[in-house]
Amino acid sequence: TQHLLARVADHQQLGAFVHVDAEGALAAAQAADARRAAGNASALTGVPIAHKDIFVTAAAPTTAGSKMLKGYQSPFDATVVAKLSAAGMVSLGKLNCDEFAMGSANENSAWGAVLNPWDRSRVPGGSSGGSAAAVAARLLPAATGTDTGGSIRQPASFSGITGIKPTYGRCSRYGMIAFASSLDQAGPMARSAEDCALLLSAMTGFDERDATSADRPAEDYHAQMLAAREGATPGKPLQGLRVGLPKEFFPAALAADVNGAVRGALAELEKLGATLVEVSLPRTELSIPVYYIIAPAEASSNLQRYDGVRYGQRAQSYGDLVDMYKKTRAQGFGAEVKRRIMIGTYVLSHGYYDAYYLQAQKLRRMIADDFQQCFNDCDVIAGPVAPSVAWRLGDKGDDPVAAYLADIFTLPASLAGLPGMSVPAGFGEGGMPVGLQLIGNYFAEGQLLHTAHAFQ
Ligand code: GLN
Repeated sequence: TQHLLARVADHQQLGAFVHVDAEGALAAAQAADARRAAGNASALTGVPIAHKDIFVTAAAPTTAGSKMLKGYQSPFDATVVAKLSAAGMVSLGKLNCDEFAMGSANENSAWGAVLNPWDRSRVPGGSSGGSAAAVAARLLPAATGTDTGGSIRQPASFSGITGIKPTYGRCSRYGMIAFASSLDQAGPMARSAEDCALLLSAMTGFDERDATSADRPAEDYHAQMLAAREGATPGKPLQGLRVGLPKEFFPAALAADVNGAVRGALAELEKLGATLVEVSLPRTELSIPVYYIIAPAEASSNLQRYDGVRYGQRAQSYGDLVDMYKKTRAQGFGAEVKRRIMIGTYVLSHGYYDAYYLQAQKLRRMIADDFQQCFNDCDVIAGPVAPSVAWRLGDKGDDPVAAYLADIFTLPASLAGLPGMSVPAGFGEGGMPVGLQLIGNYFAEGQLLHTAHAFQ
């Protein structure tokens, strides 16, 4: 813990941390030592971690990357945070992220951009950019992230680490600041699938305080991984696994470097015994407009609570109550958040609801059905995480649509609520990391982790 606190201090220029809790970390490390001495430690006891600043924490302020929540102090811990500390993990603090998790580059944070440790002129991905950069720079062995439309998988891919977004409902959303509630999921970001397995097992489980939490017990993904490995044909741990390649995930326009790295990884899976089969997700392109209607619609509703009365900041000077609301929101929210509130309010308004929101909901169902068709022919789906490697800081800053289009490969699994992960596949342009995306059927996290582990 001391070593990593020193590393964090040495790497402040990366912008990964928004709050460091050295005192709390050292106390937790001591408690973990005592627990280890008493013989009731788990593999995670004493292991340092830090949390995306979208999880509320009692020991540190929570801002969700927004000026609106500057100085906000939660009275309780998010369920995921509480579960990881119950396992004995040592929290070093809070990690930078896009404002209310809206973004793909971490450039929408009120607290500044995060730099990609592989090349500091590039973005680390987003919205869990601080989590990805901290793990990639070896400031931490693990971090929490959240993924609404790719925010664990895409920064993991851009930063060369491993991350998994579980099935919607697998981790409790209690204490996760809401962006789009029907899509938001927590998950671990770490150096390997094996580490992710240990972390995810500790994070999952039913929570009566989240109405969409899946009512099924936590699983020991790490034990499953070891058992799968043991039961496998030597040298062929993936024997019998059918890996589906959606043809829409390999369009002619896919960057050659990403295509090359992903194809290389697929050849590895084949060597390990897997068979590759072509499948189709015909509505892949439509997932972009569908997501960018549904997510802003839910965000516009969720963000109504920031009215200057109940949480965080209030405008300094104002006239009447309505003026106070207006000034607080005008000053507190950044440009991307305002854009989404406006889109969301528009698509939900009378006369447009049927044309946009309802249509998007119907397509969302069809996208989920397309995946079930694919799973008739394969066990897991594979493809790229993102159409390019990490771009340069500022490159898409004033072009939100360009950033939205780059979410094409992560949005389908999010809309369907399926688990997905990013595993380092190789390197592309500028020596930047490229991730392989693996998507499984509902609650098949164990299979995804086993596949990734065999490959790593
Ligand atoms: N890039 C997507 C967005 O901006 C996804 C973000 C996320 O998963 N939180 O909405």
